[in-house]
Amino acid sequence: MPNGGRTRGGQQEMTRAVAEAVEDGEHLLIQAGTGIGKTLAYLLPAVMSGKRTVVTTFTKALQDQMVETDLPFLAAHIDQVAGRTLTFAEVKGWSNYLCLERLHQIRSAKSQGQIDGIAESAPENEIKQILDWASGTTSGDKADLNFVPKSSSWRAVSVSSQECLRSDCPHVATCFPMQARQRAATADVTVANHALYAIDLRVGGALLGEHELVILDEAHQIEDSFSDAFGFELTGARFQWVADLARRLLGQDPRVNRVAELGKQLTQNMRDHGAARVHTGEAAHLSKTLELAESRLEALLAATPPEVDDEDLARRRKRLISSGRALQEDVQAARLYLAGPSALALVGWIEFSDGRQPVLKLAPIDIASELEEYLWTKRVAVLTSATLPANIVERLGLSESNPRLKTVDSPFDYENQTFLYCPTHLPDPANEHEAWMAAVHEELASLLTAAGGRTLALFTSFESLNAARDYLSSHVDLPVLCQGEMPERRLIEKFAATSEASLLATRRFWQGIDVPGPTLSLVVIDRLPFPSPSEHLIKARSVGANPLGWWKVELPIGATRLAQGAGRLVRREDDYGVVAVLDPRLATQSYRSQLLEALPPMRTTNDPKEVERFLRNLNEGTEAP
Ligand code: SF4
Repeated sequence: MPNGGRTRGGQQEMTRAVAEAVEDGEHLLIQAGTGIGKTLAYLLPAVMSGKRTVVTTFTKALQDQMVETDLPFLAAHIDQVAGRTLTFAEVKGWSNYLCLERLHQIRSAKSQGQIDGIAESAPENEIKQILDWASGTTSGDKADLNFVPKSSSWRAVSVSSQECLRSDCPHVATCFPMQARQRAATADVTVANHALYAIDLRVGGALLGEHELVILDEAHQIEDSFSDAFGFELTGARFQWVADLARRLLGQDPRVNRVAELGKQLTQNMRDHGAARVHTGEAAHLSKTLELAESRLEALLAATPPEVDDEDLARRRKRLISSGRALQEDVQAARLYLAGPSALALVGWIEFSDGRQPVLKLAPIDIASELEEYLWTKRVAVLTSATLPANIVERLGLSESNPRLKTVDSPFDYENQTFLYCPTHLPDPANEHEAWMAAVHEELASLLTAAGGRTLALFTSFESLNAARDYLSSHVDLPVLCQGEMPERRLIEKFAATSEASLLATRRFWQGIDVPGPTLSLVVIDRLPFPSPSEHLIKARSVGANPLGWWKVELPIGATRLAQGAGRLVRREDDYGVVAVLDPRLATQSYRSQLLEALPPMRTTNDPKEVERFLRNLNEGTEAP
């Protein structure tokens, strides 16, 4: 097995279940507990079925594991045993790859001193590094760069699928995203992410090619990932980008500046509105700006010359037309939504991206009917995760398909190796927030000290994380790492390599961190991770499912997140430790059984002394055999 692993009973059980579902042509939802080795358990029957397969995941780490470890392992053994060649490929979104046409434009513009606005706004040293790397790369994949470029730098050297010139491009024969797609479309197994798969559904399979079987891993993320991919965003930068493209063709034509000004106006409107849901029939300023945008974009595109002699400008013209039309369509859809009520069942909200730039996001509230029409009726699907939400069949529109449901339990001995600790003496965070926060800090410091560090503390907000960090810095004499101090990968590596370190993190780490061994003996969850008021898409789904929307939509999400967080503790058979949920509602509220059912079968306690003793013994090496 890869990495010296071994076959387990649960893995064989899952392999059989997948093989039978594929053979019978029925959908399968399979919850596979941590440690089963589910990737090989679905890849093997998929490969042996001879059906062309697409595997999609939410996290990049799982895609990497598949193409770097699991699929090469299978390919080598299938070759040996069956004398058959297994082909596989990974494919990513268009803008993950270097665009040779953009590169050509930047190089020639630099030599003529006519660099465009997009490249101009990117840090020059980064562009230079990318240009150097471009001369030697064979993949053109951003992930192969030896540094993480700023988004403005990468934006300057890549294009979206809509902006690509396709057959009109002089570099089409050597184009990186085109080559990746060609490899993917003919491979026996193609690995992609959920977002790309959602887009492929929308474009009728044009990206990933015909396939008979799809395996959706990390299936608890499907609804959010697909909603995002089916939705769209409006930013001031999109208007600026169209204006930049037009300027080289139309020079100082006032219609170019009017579009650029609109981008600024939209940004200002969004800032004035603030990060909040944008309700249909409200946001008059935004509506007015978008109305103006539609006519100004139309005027700009109408002013674009139908033909130009210069080859370079002709290609620029084509990109302008496709980007401008795509922007126009999104503006129209946003206007319809804001004018409401409309047939578009969307939810809109404004959020601020990393660079504090406002973004207007619109996404469909419900994706069930779309999935039913374009996915479940077209091919066999296997959906799997360590934690499948209780409402997944209904939310994804699978009820009519009557899918097979199966659970394969984790091989780990949670009962003997772990405690679930819930301090019921703490105040209720919903009613006594300040008192609860102070008690959480004391509790966290005591637990962390007893464990000798070795703690992953997961918070539901940055505010809580920062407050805990400040408290620990003056009350605990052990190294504490915090999300945001360094790139995530380095942070996790440092945590794993420093035996007495603790790591404080928020939502991004609830499912992306895998640290086996005694470095991690304690997972602390500050508060039950129900959706926050700023999760507008989930809130809209919840309202749409009323009465009992909270129970049908938000409670299953909270349970899945809690299980994901708790799942960080035991990553292999000899892992011991404690999951401490510092929210007494886990033990007192009427919904507690739904939350506890989603968790592994750990011993439960509310006695701090018992837990601290267990952690101290673990730290001193006297608890584990
Ligand atoms: S085909 Fe598209 S992505 Fe490829 S080099 Fe040309 S414009 Fe860029």
